[in-house]
Amino acid sequence: MRVLVVEDEPLIAQALREGLEAEGYAVDTSDRGDDGLWRATEVAYDAIILDLMLPGMNGFVVCREMRSRGITTPVMMLTAKDGEFDEAEGLDTGADDYVTKPFSLVVVLARLRALIRRGPTERPATLVAGDLVLDPAERTCRRGDTVVELTPREFSLLRYLMHRLGEPVSKRDLIDHVWADQEMEANVVQVYVGYLRRKIDEPFGRAAIETVRGHGYRLAADGG
Ligand code: CA
Repeated sequence: MRVLVVEDEPLIAQALREGLEAEGYAVDTSDRGDDGLWRATEVAYDAIILDLMLPGMNGFVVCREMRSRGITTPVMMLTAKDGEFDEAEGLDTGADDYVTKPFSLVVVLARLRALIRRGPTERPATLVAGDLVLDPAERTCRRGDTVVELTPREFSLLRYLMHRLGEPVSKRDLIDHVWADQEMEANVVQVYVGYLRRKIDEPFGRAAIETVRGHGYRLAADGG
């Protein structure tokens, strides 16, 4: 079992490393959010312990970025007790658990074991773009506090666009990943994008799905 600890306070990082190693985990540490994100994309960890306040990039952003890149590693977020942490926001970014500092190492280890036991595959990552949130496990879509009803095909289309958040995605890619039908006409994609816009964008005065001329579409990373 390999665990990544992203924590900028050296004493806490060291205590976690020693505690985890004593339990037989292989441990990597990082003291910056951006570096932690990079490691998480390079190595398949079994779990990640992620501090919230970090130089480079805060823990919310690290977690959201990981999830938007399809990394489903369980994440335990460490937070201070001074109210900086909004539990709902933490869970929205795709964290699986959170522990308040100062913490007991015994508690962290027990909860980490539970997280790893649950594993990454039971609950696919929640995809987040600003206030647009897609939960593949529950097959729900929300824009802010509003639940948006999507057909299975619309859901699948949005899921793929969110998986490739901020990147231009060709119509061909969408056909391959959403319809898996080589014969399908590209204008069907256009029709479905229209349906999706009328559900996730227009009622909210937003424009998350951008047209990339001559290519396809891009889902705005900030949710439009
Ligand atoms: Ca910190």
